[in-house]
Amino acid sequence: MDETGGCLCGAVRYRVTMDPMAVSHCHCTFCRRASGAAFLTWMTIPSAGFAYTLGEPAIYGSSPGVERHFCGDCGTSLLFRAEAHPEEVDVTAASLDNPAAVEPVDHVWAGGMLPWFDFSDDGLAKLEQAHWQHGYPKGK
Ligand SMILES: [Zn+2]
Ligand SMILES: [Zn+2]
Repeated sequence: MDETGGCLCGAVRYRVTMDPMAVSHCHCTFCRRASGAAFLTWMTIPSAGFAYTLGEPAIYGSSPGVERHFCGDCGTSLLFRAEAHPEEVDVTAASLDNPAAVEPVDHVWAGGMLPWFDFSDDGLAKLEQAHWQHGYPKGK
């Protein structure tokens, strides 16, 4: 894929040039707090396929060895990166200029789902943990 995205105020922009390894709704408490939303939808992208094209993100270390990137001006959650997995980054699918360009394939940390939504019939896999534990869909 070749898609662009960015934050609410436009100070930070990025480009994704490789297909996602997965697109997943994450229901962990860290994503919930970081976004202020019920869950965050992430595209896992090979690191070589992601670049910032405008501005610099602010960075918060939400756990040891883990970075969350967001716009320091408007607060939009943009990216998740872990030292232990430098070959991939997670990018928020909803910050794409065209979020419909991707299609979620599963839920991760599904045990954290809030009762507000019923995903039981959506046909997507509900993974107990993340892809690091379960592997990636489609063998990618
Ligand atoms: Zn911004
Ligand atoms: Zn999460």
